[in-house]
Amino acid sequence: MPDDWKDKIRCSFCHKKSTDVSKVIAGPGVHICNECIGLCGEILEAEKLAESTEPRLPAWESMSEDQILDHLPKIAAVQTQVDDNLRDWVGHLRTREVSWERIGASLGMTRQSAWERFRNDS
Ligand SMILES: [Zn+2]
Repeated sequence: MPDDWKDKIRCSFCHKKSTDVSKVIAGPGVHICNECIGLCGEILEAEKLAESTEPRLPAWESMSEDQILDHLPKIAAVQTQVDDNLRDWVGHLRTREVSWERIGASLGMTRQSAWERFRNDS
């Protein structure tokens, strides 16, 4: 990876740079920082105390339109992050001279679609 990867990687939950937190853990195309993991732990602990067993997901039913509008760019930022990450992984496979055919097959797309989406235009 290039040297600027630490600056490029951001927590998918709070969007902080990996250089601004003490630890970032990678998932498939996404990352989570130690601070968000801590918050998750607190939520789980609080729910354990409340003996709540129902899963709670972000419910737009309970949100105002402004809150929902405020949420959209956060989702879009994660989408960009995942796209960039996927591009990096595909780019790495290309340095190993893995064919567009195999990359496309892995993603359930044709060789042509894979090339069009991930070719390096620069
Ligand atoms: Zn975070």
